[in-house]
Amino acid sequence: MTKGIENVDFKNKRVIIRCDFNVPVINGKIEDDTRIVKSLKTINYVLKTADRVILLSHAGRIKTNEDKEKYSLKIVCKRLNELMSEEVILASYEDNINEIISNNKIVLLENTRFFDLDNKKESNCEESLSKYFASLGDIFINDAFGVSHRKSASNYGISKYLPSYIGFLVESEINMLDKVINPKMPFLTIMGGAKVTDKIKIIEKLIEKVDKLIITGGMAFTFLKVKGINVGSSIIDEDSLEFCKNILEKYPSKIILPVDFYVSKSFEDNKPEYRNLNNIQDDDICLDIGESTINIYKEEIMRANTIFWNGPAGVFEFENFSYGTKMLCDILYKSNKIVVVGGGDSAFAINKFNYKFENVSTGGGATLKYIEGDRLPGLFLGEENEKEFKN
Ligand code: AMP
Repeated sequence: MTKGIENVDFKNKRVIIRCDFNVPVINGKIEDDTRIVKSLKTINYVLKTADRVILLSHAGRIKTNEDKEKYSLKIVCKRLNELMSEEVILASYEDNINEIISNNKIVLLENTRFFDLDNKKESNCEESLSKYFASLGDIFINDAFGVSHRKSASNYGISKYLPSYIGFLVESEINMLDKVINPKMPFLTIMGGAKVTDKIKIIEKLIEKVDKLIITGGMAFTFLKVKGINVGSSIIDEDSLEFCKNILEKYPSKIILPVDFYVSKSFEDNKPEYRNLNNIQDDDICLDIGESTINIYKEEIMRANTIFWNGPAGVFEFENFSYGTKMLCDILYKSNKIVVVGGGDSAFAINKFNYKFENVSTGGGATLKYIEGDRLPGLFLGEENEKEFKN
């Protein structure tokens, strides 16, 4: 794996740091700035000795010119200026970027995916764009864990042309996720969220290792359906029925499913009605778990030493159906166990409910891929590794 930055001399150097500032923005407001806050450690460390710091990041997906306004990094730049003592200047690609860098200590370049409007140059890790990014500095640091599973011009392509290192955020992510890869037994995984398909690979990987696997949230209904339970009009992932059947047959005692629910007649934040596993009606949509289920989860959590949690237990975005996910946060938080929270919606949920966990991943897809055992390009930077990838 690529080395960290602790022994690197940044004196008189222009240092490019690839961050992951892809934060959720709703109605012009950053909903969760965790990724920005966690990037500061590397940025401030480098700033102390470097001549210049150049920040790169993507945000959203850029398919049309209108997306450029929506996913501009202006709002991120504003937040960085609130958080940092040194002024951060935003440079757009129409500007004379070299001049801006010469005149300012720290420069944030606009969204790297703006180049996706031109033949997906950023996302396809196009060579000329990689070289262009590299031409702006002397040293490259990848601190964008969330996109480390992808090869883009700004996180991997660039590293072929500059001495490259990984930043503190990436290092701390790896140390944290290694607690899941080498867990202190007993090991419990809690998988939630909506779709089974996205999580098949990680379930296959973890099922061998775990003592117990709790399947919760919308995912649970595909498993319950193959067990012959009437799940009413709850979400079903038709493509995964066969997978769920096989895994239930193979590991009948490892998998724990919910036993009671709060339901609604439409996918809206209505007044919840309670149901047991065996009295779900055809037009019920199960949107949250009930108290008996929470008690079962609590017992399993107290039996374990390491717990990996990925995905909510219900539609936590609806106030009336957020109880189960909130209780799960609360039990995990107070458990005194090694708890690792996977990124994406679980991270969003804990912030919504104001729980400050020690181990929260900033990645979604990258987190799962790392635990699945994939070799993430963003952790193996540089030309030599490029050769290794091809072999
Ligand atoms: P995922 O992207 O697969 O991790 O799914 C996250 C989404 O799952 C969240 O937006 C939740 O609202 C949703 N979710 C959780 N529980 C349910 C449920 N019972 N029915 C439908 N969606 C759910």
